[in-house]
Amino acid sequence: MANPVASNRIRVSFEFFPPKTEEMERSLWEAIARLGPLSPNFVSVTYGAGGSTRERTHTTVKRILAETALVPAAHLTCVAATRAEVDTVIRGYGEAGVRHIVALRGDPPGGVGERYAPHPGGYENGAALVAGIKRIGDFEVSVSAYPEKHPDSASVEADIDMLKAKVDAGASRAITQFFFENATYFRYLDRVRARGISIPIVPGILPVQNFKQTRVFAERCGASVPRWLAERFDGLDDDVATRKLIAAAVAAEQVLGLVKQGVTDFHFYTMNRADLVYAICHLLGLRPAARKAA
Ligand code: FAD
Repeated sequence: MANPVASNRIRVSFEFFPPKTEEMERSLWEAIARLGPLSPNFVSVTYGAGGSTRERTHTTVKRILAETALVPAAHLTCVAATRAEVDTVIRGYGEAGVRHIVALRGDPPGGVGERYAPHPGGYENGAALVAGIKRIGDFEVSVSAYPEKHPDSASVEADIDMLKAKVDAGASRAITQFFFENATYFRYLDRVRARGISIPIVPGILPVQNFKQTRVFAERCGASVPRWLAERFDGLDDDVATRKLIAAAVAAEQVLGLVKQGVTDFHFYTMNRADLVYAICHLLGLRPAARKAA
């Protein structure tokens, strides 16, 4: 098999969240300025829990469109909104020139762990939202996928049924929840393919900027944290510099392992920080556009 790094077939996308403060706004735009020249396939902007960032997501996406050559993908959830309200947001994206939406059900308004109940008159899940988006316009639609199953799902099979429903409704790409064991991803991929789902299942990669935070986050979203990972960060709570080196080594090992087994597309959860992601992309053979052209 040709080496995808050497043959330049690697494609990446970067996920950002809308900033809350001026300082966060500055770090977001520093991250975009640093990562943008790597020519990502697209950059996505998350939608806060319960639709809490509706305006900020929209503003960030519009600024990306206005000030960069990047292709933005706007995340959108069904939480705490009627279909008509969500449709207004979809139309707003369309009018702003956004052509790609990451469609999600979202977490219950009371937070993860509560039973999810659709908003009265709202879209009931990711698949219904995908169908709604496709009815409104010719958007490219990406959706979520869960190699370790979503915590609400009774089984991996039920989870894959939902993925199938989202694909049948028009989704053309799935981005996975983060995972740390590549074998978990490939096992899931086999099951998805066996179910007749052929869209790209793009691995979501979370460089571990902060291990403690990652562990809390993983627990909430049903991603497992292997013991070897905890051991690698053991004793480094107050040692930021070493933590960073370990995080880079862990993520490098993971993505190069995936490449070795034929993966060519990666979605990075950047947490609005460029350095680790930039280094991993460099390892993947990506170089800034200006240098490539030189
Ligand atoms: P769905 O795909 O609709 O469902 C997830 C699973 O739950 C399915 O497998 C299904 O079997 C099961 N399920 C759904 N409804 C029910 C039900 N009523 N009863 C029993 N089981 C059910 N969240 C945000 O708030 N904003 C974001 O921007 C955001 N971006 C994300 C991006 C990615 C790539 C990923 C992986 C997740 C993101 N999330 C985001 C988190 C996501 O909103 C949560 O995981 C949410 O709980 C599920 O949304 P979904 O679209 O994945 O759900």
